[in-house]
Amino acid sequence: MVDTYNFNAHKAMLINFDCSPMWFKNGTTATKYFNVEPVYLKHEHQSVASDYRHLQVALGRRFRSLKIWFVLRSLGVDNIQKSLRKQNEQAALFASLLNEDGTFELVVPQHLGLVCFRIKNGTNEANEALCKAVNEDRRIHLVPSKAHGLFFLRLAICSQLTTDDDIRFALKVLKEVFCELNKRN
Ligand SMILES: *Cc1c(COP(=O)(O)O)cnc(C)c1O
Repeated sequence: MVDTYNFNAHKAMLINFDCSPMWFKNGTTATKYFNVEPVYLKHEHQSVASDYRHLQVALGRRFRSLKIWFVLRSLGVDNIQKSLRKQNEQAALFASLLNEDGTFELVVPQHLGLVCFRIKNGTNEANEALCKAVNEDRRIHLVPSKAHGLFFLRLAICSQLTTDDDIRFALKVLKEVFCELNKRN
């Protein structure tokens, strides 16, 4: 069961940093933990207006919803959806290219704009060395992670400007750097 849901609109949703909307299944339940009612914060609209300060420790916060409003106005829901679908399709393209090629393997199925992969049957050390070499090469940039002791590489697509050719280019760079490393060892 899920009571709250939080996600970073500043990641894939084309809104600039920082912006993390949070939904409550029942906002009233949450307010009971944070509700403070000093005299100086009392006002006459209390019964009709939502006081977002009751949903967190701090009383004040930046007006982040304004930038969501601007992005919605300038792009529209359709274009945001299109952009998310494109990121997903490009990540799926990268995953299928990886599978076809066979040098690497997916660590988990591709999901949204993220592809987690590693050298097929490679050690953690080999994958760490590859990640370091790819980032030093500087044509593409990967952020690695580790789960259950397994080190892996992550290709994240989060730009409107990424093309399918960029995706093919990323695999080409990975393979080139991997071959270079193998030659040296
Ligand atoms: C963005 C990101 C974070 C940081 O999230 P915050 O909401 O800024 O704390 C942590 N882990 C992963 C995998 C991320 O992509």
